[in-house]
Amino acid sequence: MIKLKQQQIRTFNRLALRPATGTAELRSELTRLFCLIGSHPHWRCEPLTGRARSDLHHQAVAAPGGEPELEVEWRIQYGIGAVRRPVMVHTGGCSMGMARSRPASREQAVQALTQGVEACAICRADSGLGVLEA
Ligand SMILES: [Zn+2]
Repeated sequence: MIKLKQQQIRTFNRLALRPATGTAELRSELTRLFCLIGSHPHWRCEPLTGRARSDLHHQAVAAPGGEPELEVEWRIQYGIGAVRRPVMVHTGGCSMGMARSRPASREQAVQALTQGVEACAICRADSGLGVLEA
């Protein structure tokens, strides 16, 4: 499972660099890995808590072949369905909506908020960005 997580981090990092092509493939690979990890038999004995996720993350980074995850300051979460509209803005460290979000620049995050995309109530991306709703 460490290998799966390392693969997930590598895929995430490639996406974080915002390549011009292949983002759809990278995103579906990321979702696939996310599901594989989430449904791993290991979690039958140990519940998959936020703590367990972050332990796994640290182990994957430290293990041979691991690489640190790129710092992502902001993320935009997209809806499901054909039209994948942005639905929520998160800080990079927020664990909500991970599987369906993409790294965003500060400008993209601010723009999304000013266009009416909701800010996450958990990480309060809007206050971090200095864009608070009136
Ligand atoms: Zn959030």
